[in-house]
Amino acid sequence: MHTSGPNNHRHTVSLPPLAPLIDNYGREITYLRLAITDRCNLRCRYCMPERGVVPFLHEDTLSYEELERLVSLFQMLGVRKIRITGGEPFARRGCLEFIQRLMSRVGVEQLYLTTNGVETSRYLGSLKEIGISGINLSLDTLDKDRFKDITRRDRLDRVLVTLYQALELSIPLKINSVVTESTSDKEIINLGELPKNHAISLRFIEMMPFSGEKRLIPRSQDNLLDRLNRLFPSLQECQTDIISTARLFSTSGFRGTIGIIEGNSRKFCATCNKVRITSDGRMKSCLYDNGILNLKSMLRSGATDKAIISAIRQSINQRHVDGHATELICDRKEEPPMNRIGG
Ligand code: SAM
Ligand code: SF4
Repeated sequence: MHTSGPNNHRHTVSLPPLAPLIDNYGREITYLRLAITDRCNLRCRYCMPERGVVPFLHEDTLSYEELERLVSLFQMLGVRKIRITGGEPFARRGCLEFIQRLMSRVGVEQLYLTTNGVETSRYLGSLKEIGISGINLSLDTLDKDRFKDITRRDRLDRVLVTLYQALELSIPLKINSVVTESTSDKEIINLGELPKNHAISLRFIEMMPFSGEKRLIPRSQDNLLDRLNRLFPSLQECQTDIISTARLFSTSGFRGTIGIIEGNSRKFCATCNKVRITSDGRMKSCLYDNGILNLKSMLRSGATDKAIISAIRQSINQRHVDGHATELICDRKEEPPMNRIGG
């Protein structure tokens, strides 16, 4: 266990677990999302402004050693599932080696990755070899021009190479598909061919207010469930005991599932089991908060493991009932960019 300053990088894998991390509403935290960078090779309209956001300086981003220490601490607190996200994780040098270390040295058993797939295909063989638990691939459309319009980059071909290679390697795959104001029925139906033909979970995601722009006016949003029922009338909801942000549906003739993630409606807050660490080292106990605990400054001022754990517990004990309540308190003047938060 760390008992002294920031240069002590011993890991805490073998230490016994502590009392679980349970918030003031009785929700147990078992899932940690790490945004390891804010840099990205796409510029999705709902995530970043066209000019990008001024990237954090390298020294303002947590080092891999600091991230490993935090993962160890969260594991001691009962976190079992870790997701690497960004920005684009592979836009940060050393991402694959970091993932390898998390699994082999830090002892993470459930390690997932969210990626846009642009540069990912070359890493898939290694990811399969080290036993990655699953990949979420972001893909909003199968139409080349629409892809270019949404992401402001002409890279659909490369994403599809990643998609089909991951399928070939039998890496468990989910597709994240944000539904924007301009998503057409045809695009949704075309994406629906993927879970029909492959063992893929395709999840349509409500667009949330994280564009990095000033537009806080609520945008018109279809009810995703109504739309799905209209476009795929034979879908039946799958019953599951697993805590998930997605509601999943399937039908005979489908090898995979179609799901919806009602992130803007915030329908799943009652069972929320996750925390996030932003690319500049702040812990968020709710997607809609402003980053409630500055872990980076604790790590860099020599805080002991005990002090960090105690600060994490304290923050988790002050959560709000749901994302609506959190957002009200934050009283935002503009939407934060999602690339710093990780989704
Ligand atoms: N760059 C990687 C990617 O796109 O998969 C990982 C980071 S990205 C921020 C993580 C997820 O957040 C993606 O699936 C993306 O579609 C989603 N996302 C980004 N901005 C969003 C928004 N405003 N509303 C809903 N989902 C969003
Ligand atoms: Fe990049 Fe992912 Fe944001 Fe798109 S959603 S700009 S790929 S971080």
